[in-house]
Amino acid sequence: MSGAAERQKTVVEPTIFELSSPGRRGYRFPPLDVPPIDPVEVFGENQVRSVEPDFPELTEPEVVRHFTRLAEMNHHVDRGFYPLGSCTMKYNPKVNEDVAQLPGFTRLHPEADATDSQGALALMHDLAKHLAAISGMDQVSLQPPAGASGELTGMLIVRAYHTDKGNPRSKVIVPDSAHGTNPASLTLAGYEAVEIKSDSSGRVDVDELRRIVDSETAAIMITNPNTLGVFESRISEIIEIVHGVGGLVYMDGANLNALMGIVRPGDIGFDLMHFNLHKTFSSPHGGGGPGSGPVGVTNRLADYLPYPVIARDEARSRGIEYYLDYERPKSIGKVHGVYGNFLVMVKAYSYILTLGPAGLRRAAENALLNANYLQHKLEGHYELPYKDYCQHEFVLSASRQKEHGVKALDVAKRLLDFGVHAPTVYFPLIVSEALMIEPTESESKRSLDHFISVMIDIARESEFTPEVVKGAPSRTPVGRLDEVRASKDLDVSWRRG
Ligand SMILES: *Cc1c(COP(=O)(O)O)cnc(C)c1O
Repeated sequence: MSGAAERQKTVVEPTIFELSSPGRRGYRFPPLDVPPIDPVEVFGENQVRSVEPDFPELTEPEVVRHFTRLAEMNHHVDRGFYPLGSCTMKYNPKVNEDVAQLPGFTRLHPEADATDSQGALALMHDLAKHLAAISGMDQVSLQPPAGASGELTGMLIVRAYHTDKGNPRSKVIVPDSAHGTNPASLTLAGYEAVEIKSDSSGRVDVDELRRIVDSETAAIMITNPNTLGVFESRISEIIEIVHGVGGLVYMDGANLNALMGIVRPGDIGFDLMHFNLHKTFSSPHGGGGPGSGPVGVTNRLADYLPYPVIARDEARSRGIEYYLDYERPKSIGKVHGVYGNFLVMVKAYSYILTLGPAGLRRAAENALLNANYLQHKLEGHYELPYKDYCQHEFVLSASRQKEHGVKALDVAKRLLDFGVHAPTVYFPLIVSEALMIEPTESESKRSLDHFISVMIDIARESEFTPEVVKGAPSRTPVGRLDEVRASKDLDVSWRRG
């Protein structure tokens, strides 16, 4: 056993199977007062299991307490600061959950006929309109279930567009600061990734772009503000260059939280983009639930959107107002079962209506203000590789701490001891020992100041007592894990004492 493993504190919560005790029950049904049926007779032998399922047996309070204890051991945005860069882990207003729990939404079957789901279709139709208004895109499909899936949908639309014009083309350009899902998505869509270097300010090297575009350039995928938290201030030139060779310009909209209400990608000249509803428009994500990655396009790409498209017929010639339009001969087809993750859409809809246009803009402005406040207060204590005002996030480097043997990973682990979630580390790849920090708009000055003081303490510890940082965390339910072993050799069993 390694030293680190020995120091590791004991996991004090058994698994639910270990807590099980034969015969324990939460609820019991009253005795059967109708003749029993034989399931084999009704459903057929191949539909009925021969062995009883091995379900844990517990009382209701045991179940509730077990999961409450587990939730207390975990970090989540309802518990504390969660500056996980690029992920936008903002606080999720509970009113969104209330709305998403309305029985009319939760009890609606995904296969219900349009006649029986007019309310849900109206909500989706309206949400798509709001997203179009926020982004300056003309049409939006809500179908993709995550950002990465939105990217793939977007790249398939790019391919369909070029194929329609006679040549699908072969290459898509991505900056070296791009999220890993960008090259993955374009590769899945059959394109070759052409990486473009960032210049010394962290932005796309525009002269280099001019050199590498050609008639095989299908598109550029660009995140704005980019993953360094820097706004691509030469975006108009970039778009002109790519349009100049007949290519399309895709925006990875994961960072829309910095733009909403301030800048519209459609107005800048982007042809298509995805949204991460679970980031920008609030919804518990990560371990907290599924996502939603709608795709917005300008009119010239609208025919290629996934079908069915939620259409509105105010004259009700079919007898209903909202219907699912499958008559889309140029559509790339379906990209998800049913229409996407509906309840995430409900939460986003509730969020957008609660804030309104002025509120969305204020959210973006506060996200920028909070990030710049943190960057300003921390840049004397950690290396700031790209010195500029940041957008909604910024990237520090633990290179100074590394001189004392403390890595970005150690700083991240030590933060856990102070009740703060770790920032994103080692991303973007172009910054060594990267710590990518995104506070979001929902944090008060008090919680930002707490984070600043903890980060400064850790910088001091790194200098004077580096072993404390390298051994962290020491106050969490589980200590420092061998991360390779933890992912290859998962052990969720209960170890007592
Ligand atoms: C989160 C993120 C993605 C991928 O989104 P998912 O919803 O996690 O699939 C893509 N690009 C950037 C910049 C992101 O931050």
